[in-house]
Amino acid sequence: MKPVPFDYVRAGSREEALAALAEGGEDAKAIAGGQSLVPALAMRLVRPTLLVDLNHAGLDGVDANGTLRLGATVRQAALADDDRVHPLVRAALPYVGHGVTRNRGTVGGSIAHADGAAELPLCLVALGGTVVADGPGGRREIPADDFFVTHFLTTLAPGELVVETVWPRAGGEASAFEEFALRHGDFAQSMACCVLTRDDDGAVVEARVAVGAVTDRPTRLAEVEALLVGSRGVEAAADAGALAARLVDPPGTLHASDAYLRSLTGTLVHRAVEAAS
Ligand code: FAD
Repeated sequence: MKPVPFDYVRAGSREEALAALAEGGEDAKAIAGGQSLVPALAMRLVRPTLLVDLNHAGLDGVDANGTLRLGATVRQAALADDDRVHPLVRAALPYVGHGVTRNRGTVGGSIAHADGAAELPLCLVALGGTVVADGPGGRREIPADDFFVTHFLTTLAPGELVVETVWPRAGGEASAFEEFALRHGDFAQSMACCVLTRDDDGAVVEARVAVGAVTDRPTRLAEVEALLVGSRGVEAAADAGALAARLVDPPGTLHASDAYLRSLTGTLVHRAVEAAS
């Protein structure tokens, strides 16, 4: 199929993009890398009357003082070899689609699109990152934990854009990312990641464990995190995986039963905790 007819505006700045979205109203949509939106347009899953092109709006800055602030249109591929990017994100990146989609796909687009099986939103939640939005109500910072509502739904207000994402820099903690998909480049059947901070004796003092694809949004497993604190990680890995398998409640899919997805998630959490030990 082909998209429904739409008007197109190439925004030359953040202000122009916001003004065009405001003028276009609820049927206006931002387009960044187009790697999710263009297929949705072609299948007429979305029928905007106006597309506002962000690719020339000056939203591609990178600022690495303290935290890492990535402009919304920074390409996913740009993260791969940048040692300012947290190791967890660089471990997850090869699972984000394919090289060709990462060359065009943007960090802000992935975060705003909020696919429950997307790796970058999962990493942002696991790392305790922040989404910076701008729109009719001005600029605001939204903790990642409060941004994702459910599949393809976030707390962005109408007319708002993701203009930046803020990522913690590596600080000595150990992290690991695990995923299983039917084919490389497919969306995950399940994915898990963990970030473990240890004291000088090697005991875990802070654990952040998050899963995705089997949940409708990136989801931290607080009970698993509590189980890991005080341990050294590796000896609690099997229990962490077994607990994770009990905590998730995925619906079965065409390719996998709910029981399989629970078991898979437990295995991925077990592996991630072991790999971060
Ligand atoms: P676009 O497609 O341009 O936009 C996506 C949505 O976000 C639209 O609704 C748009 O209006 C909105 N949007 C974009 N930018 C902003 C902004 N700054 N503020 C507010 N709203 C915005 N992704 C994965 O995570 N994992 C995968 O395994 C994966 N596999 C893929 C395989 C294929 C074959 C393809 C084509 C894509 C795949 N993707 C995958 C999706 C890809 O990563 C997209 O790039 C990403 O989901 C959206 O980024 P984008 O810049 O292309 O956004």
